Amino acid sequence: MPGIQIEGVSKDYKNGPHAVHDVSLEVRDGEFMVLVGPSGCGKSTLLKLIAGIEETTHGRILIGERDVTHLDPRKRDIAMVFQNYALYPHLSVRANLGFGLKLRKTAKTDITQRVDEVAKILGLEEMLERKPGELSGGQRQRVAMGRAIVREPQAFLMDEPLSNLDAKLRVSMRAQLSRLHERLGVTTVYVTHDQIEAMTLGQRVAVLRGGVLQQCDTPEVLFEHPANLFVAAFIGSPAMNLVEAEIEDGEARFGTCRVPLAAGSHLRGRIVLGVRPHDLKLGSSGVPGVVQVVERLGTETHVVVGIDAPRLRTAALAEAIDAAPDDDILLAEDDRAFFTLVTEARAEVAVGDRVELTVDPARLHGFDLETGEALRAPAETPVPA
Ligand code: ADP
Repeated sequence: MPGIQIEGVSKDYKNGPHAVHDVSLEVRDGEFMVLVGPSGCGKSTLLKLIAGIEETTHGRILIGERDVTHLDPRKRDIAMVFQNYALYPHLSVRANLGFGLKLRKTAKTDITQRVDEVAKILGLEEMLERKPGELSGGQRQRVAMGRAIVREPQAFLMDEPLSNLDAKLRVSMRAQLSRLHERLGVTTVYVTHDQIEAMTLGQRVAVLRGGVLQQCDTPEVLFEHPANLFVAAFIGSPAMNLVEAEIEDGEARFGTCRVPLAAGSHLRGRIVLGVRPHDLKLGSSGVPGVVQVVERLGTETHVVVGIDAPRLRTAALAEAIDAAPDDDILLAEDDRAFFTLVTEARAEVAVGDRVELTVDPARLHGFDLETGEALRAPAETPVPA
């Protein structure tokens, strides 16, 4: 399977800001690449540029060795799956699956064979003679996938294909999609605004903001080593806790809070300090605060603690958090900072409790106050995956 090479690609629409700006990205042979970012960040536009539905303003796109930048979409040999898959309501599942092949004048026996194969892969064998109206949402979505698969394209492009399904079905379709990709090994570019979907599906994930690529790496690296404040705030649920802090005498100070740094820490001066909710514990010393919200999820408990430090406000943060559906909007008006921690299911904690949060010094993140870029010790800089 060939990969997809995106070289310095931009797209400007008339009367608008650039939708995609100078993006370079390599989708490797057989890779499952996810494009993620808030609404309007240019994900769909980038996908349409790869498909050839939109024309690039600058840059080149290659599929395998072929430069397809100016090639007709039909000649690119890729299949798209959209959120709004339109099946033909009057045709059976079998006819829907075979429709594209019939248009391409494929021999009847070949169509039957390929449709049977794909129906087997997708577990649609029992439904081949039904009409789309007699299927559930998930089954219809599988037929839509099937239509793309029977064509045996060089690559799949998927634009939020699961977003019309209810939450439970989405999770199950996500797992099926992963297995399908393992089995078929077709290069796939998948667009979603949902960072959890991105992190569970993507072998690598490309994060976009305002048409600009922020970082492209494995889910682990995005989580452990976000390149900047935007990625840090966007990736991870609950989101990373962030405050403005002064580094002095081996500790980070914000408001009345004091957090010791790891020995030999590279952090200096005024910075944005970040702590993941999983790296905070209810302890006996560290960051004092008052519990504002307790969310018991069964497997774990999320605790939101108001701390004595001012809330951080930057554009990157506002944008990233705006895009995160799980953010607690109710607290957004307050000027105090809030730290969320994830703790055990049966933690004895209640709203109004005075608590101390203990921070793991080895798990602190630092960002430049002006640029938002991650501050990294030289040894910490990840080798690109
Ligand atoms: P996303 O898929 O990340 O939500 P899009 O790629 O759809 O974002 O859009 C990126 C930007 O380009 C947005 O600002 C959007 O308004 C603009 N845009 C998208 N399509 C068009 C179009 N056909 N004409 C003008 N502007 C467009």
